[in-house]
Amino acid sequence: MMVTLVGAGPGDKGLLTLKGAERILAADVVLYDRFVSGDILAMIPDAAEKINVGKNAGNHPVPQGEINRLLLEYAQQGHNVVRLKGGDPFVFGRGGEELELLAENGIPFEVVPGVTSAIAGATYAGIPITHRDYASSFHVITGRAKNDGPTNIDYDALVRANGTLIFLMGVAVIGDICEGCVAAGMDADMPAAVVENATTGVQRKFVGTVGALPAITFENNVQSPAVVIIGKVCALSGRYDWYIKKPLLGRRIVVARTKPGVSKLSDGLKELGCHVIEMPCPKIVPLPFSPDKARDCSWLAFTSGTGVNVFFDALVEGGIDIRSLSHVKIACVGAETEKELNRRAIRADYCPLEYNGAALARGLCERMKQGERLFIARAKDGAEGLTRILTEGGIAFDDVAIYDKINAQKQIAVGGFDFAAFTSSSAVERFVESAADPTGAACTASPTGAAGVEFTGVKAVCIGERTAASAKSYGMDIYISKESTINSMIEKIKELCAENGH
Ligand code: SAH
Repeated sequence: MMVTLVGAGPGDKGLLTLKGAERILAADVVLYDRFVSGDILAMIPDAAEKINVGKNAGNHPVPQGEINRLLLEYAQQGHNVVRLKGGDPFVFGRGGEELELLAENGIPFEVVPGVTSAIAGATYAGIPITHRDYASSFHVITGRAKNDGPTNIDYDALVRANGTLIFLMGVAVIGDICEGCVAAGMDADMPAAVVENATTGVQRKFVGTVGALPAITFENNVQSPAVVIIGKVCALSGRYDWYIKKPLLGRRIVVARTKPGVSKLSDGLKELGCHVIEMPCPKIVPLPFSPDKARDCSWLAFTSGTGVNVFFDALVEGGIDIRSLSHVKIACVGAETEKELNRRAIRADYCPLEYNGAALARGLCERMKQGERLFIARAKDGAEGLTRILTEGGIAFDDVAIYDKINAQKQIAVGGFDFAAFTSSSAVERFVESAADPTGAACTASPTGAAGVEFTGVKAVCIGERTAASAKSYGMDIYISKESTINSMIEKIKELCAENGH
């Protein structure tokens, strides 16, 4: 039993510490608030209870006293509790207050520091917060006082210190902050910057002077979360801004996940600066089946990487030696499925050139001999095309549902992104099911658009012809990657973004 306050960093999941990640993975209960990025929330194990204390049913934050009480109660029940907070837990994060009740009650606790937005906001805007020629100290100040009272900032002292000033929670009061600095003797031409949604794919940065920053912030409708930075070092931002050079910064791309864990597509796009809107992948529920039965067949076919994983897990669980299947030939549907086999030192005997179930079935009809039997290890409610072609070809088979997929609920507003990236036709289907119209109103969609969702404006980047055909059937504009690989998908997206620049 233990409570750990974990700093989640400012947004970019790569800025989470290794220790923070370990604690999240070992958590039974996670309490988090609104500045914690979705990428980090996605790391919380399925079995852990997730509690959003940033909002409750009425959309108001859970009161601090209530959060303190929840931490205590879960710990007293014997759980490993993680309190996940944006940035660093002790930098205006009320981390200190949350420990009080735990300390009083003798609950063991730890604190894992996080990368604060105060520093990362500057870093991702190309602003070195100290510099031997310009600033020998930096000062982090809150723009908001307890209970929203007056802030009591000692501007005279701050201006005299002559360092870099970084204000958090300062957007709403940026006029007061800048006026306060100038009234205390700061030159109105002092360089200053505001960085909104720092370290994310939707980061925006505006640089000006302390005199002009309030107007710049207002004109550009800068919203919280944002950091306000004042000091000579802000003038270096133009020269050192490495983040703005990310080729896809500000692009919004929907990625419909097809398997859990790390997504090469999402991570690759984020690395290029994209704001990835992820549709979570379906939950995989293994179904009971007897892998022994595959032994009586001459061929074993997999139609997904997940199928391979579930099948081999069942072998391990059943204590079955892989060599007892050595006489069985193995077929699979495409590169991703083949990769999962390869990871187990198995080379497929057959994989069609075209990555789809119909091609697999046709290929098997040609290859299988009289009297041979096929074991198909795949998801429940798999596409009928595969079995229909096999039946027509006179092939004897067992179509075995080894796992089920349960889709997570998430609505994506059509119109709220530049491209949607699809790596399978089932990803297209899931996107269509969870699509909402641009106003965010939920509706069930159909190819005829009966429920009112219009897919014609959707630019769909697809991994192959079959995926593209699905997207096209809903009226989407389709773009197909040159090869059926994730890297090729990323290249295609880069190409398309370059064609219609910002
Ligand atoms: N503990 C947090 C700060 C909490 S106060 C930390 O160390 O970063 C919340 C304020 O943090 C916001 O009002 C904003 O000023 C700042 N902030 C948090 N995330 C941010 C982000 N991604 N970009 C810019 N500012 C951010």
